[in-house]
Amino acid sequence: MAKKLKEQRENNFFDDVLKYFDKAVKYVNAEPGVLEQIKYCNSVYRMKFPIKIGDKVEVIEAYRVEHSHHKTPTKGGIRYSEHVNQDEVMALAALMTYKCALVDVPFGGAKGGIKINPRNYDADALEKITRRYTTELIKKNFIGPGIDVPAPDYGTGEREMAWIADTFAAFHHLEIDSLGCVTGKPISQGGIRGRREATGLGLFYGLRHAVSYADDMKKLGLKPGLQGKTVVIQGMGNVGYHAAKYLHEGGAKIVAIQEYNGSIYSDKGINPEEAVAWFRQTGKLEGLKGTKSFKKPEEALEYACDILVPAALENQIHAENASRIKTKIIAEGANGPVTPEAEAILTKKGVLVIPDIYLNAGGVTVSYFEWLKNLSHVRFGRMEKRYAQAANLRLMDAIEKAAASGKKLTKEEKERIIAGPDEVTLVYSGLEETMITAYDAIRETYRNTKGIPDMRTAAFVTAINKILTSYSTLGIFP
Ligand code: GLU
Repeated sequence: MAKKLKEQRENNFFDDVLKYFDKAVKYVNAEPGVLEQIKYCNSVYRMKFPIKIGDKVEVIEAYRVEHSHHKTPTKGGIRYSEHVNQDEVMALAALMTYKCALVDVPFGGAKGGIKINPRNYDADALEKITRRYTTELIKKNFIGPGIDVPAPDYGTGEREMAWIADTFAAFHHLEIDSLGCVTGKPISQGGIRGRREATGLGLFYGLRHAVSYADDMKKLGLKPGLQGKTVVIQGMGNVGYHAAKYLHEGGAKIVAIQEYNGSIYSDKGINPEEAVAWFRQTGKLEGLKGTKSFKKPEEALEYACDILVPAALENQIHAENASRIKTKIIAEGANGPVTPEAEAILTKKGVLVIPDIYLNAGGVTVSYFEWLKNLSHVRFGRMEKRYAQAANLRLMDAIEKAAASGKKLTKEEKERIIAGPDEVTLVYSGLEETMITAYDAIRETYRNTKGIPDMRTAAFVTAINKILTSYSTLGIFP
């Protein structure tokens, strides 16, 4: 997949985002100067720094882009990939702005990237690179709990975020809120329960809600609900794996999975837990019991299904392969997996594309909860859990006394009723509420705007209208 991706990456990703923006502003009533201010990137920091690896010095190229300061801090992940370039980081930063606006997370958009293949470095080298990158961000004021708050993205995770937090804290030892300089940290380093699975779980909540509308599903020739729907997943990283896991548990059937070095299918359904365990053990998907392999990994994308979940990288569904895609719904787990040219073809075919800026916003939503936790210095649920439990217990006793003659509840039923809210319960319910509310806002825009062509345009219109409210200080009110 990596080689193929490189060729396709000739598409100018930031230009694609500009195209989506331009398509949307036709349905927005606003001062052109303000729209221009929203559209482009505010600050682009391109850096090069040397790292000694073994007895050689390697020059590392890296970026941080802050797309919009209409709200601060700015927010967005850091990607480690050999395909990182300025255009890509700018595009990803811009998508973050619209994403945060859609789910009412009070941040501007940003993104970072280091141009390395993390598979080529050991943990010591990655730590050196991460800490030096953080130092470069500190030097130019591109990181801080009130400035710009990175998070994981493709090729990074909790470990890298812990190094970033530690480096920042070393330079800001008097800053009481320093842990809020980055999210996606391990729980022991100020992270929050539920962040790891947040993007995949958010995708699940969003998709489950989208397919619950019977009239929308009827147009696609589908029944409402996830039960029995066939799903193809591209990418079994953090987003793809968790999306697959929740969709599988929710009754959908995973019929094909694509990874960068191979892909598999089975009409009986693939258990994502087994697929991921096999991938960890052997380094590839092929050979998993009960499955067959495609000749070329990318054939998986063209496998007939109800829902296709691209959860790897941008530019995967493009002008060349769009007409061969045989799905009814595309659920964008990755950022920018469908190009504008592909989207035009898919829309004509009647495919519902649920856009990235909405559907993968679960990650930044729970990042927001983590940031709030860091600033408040208290775990969610710590204050109210016992209290809620005691109150529920009193309620339970009263019910039982009243129904003394009838059947008693089982121990499990009782426990479920009396349970107080702990951190992960609150995070999940906050995420579910966010995904449902945001989908309904986009759907409203889609249904109420004459001539609007697709859900992505509706999502951009909804986001831009929310961002515009921040410019009221200019005397311009939407
Ligand atoms: N990298 C993720 C995204 O693209 C998460 C960003 C964050 O949590 O700030 O949405």
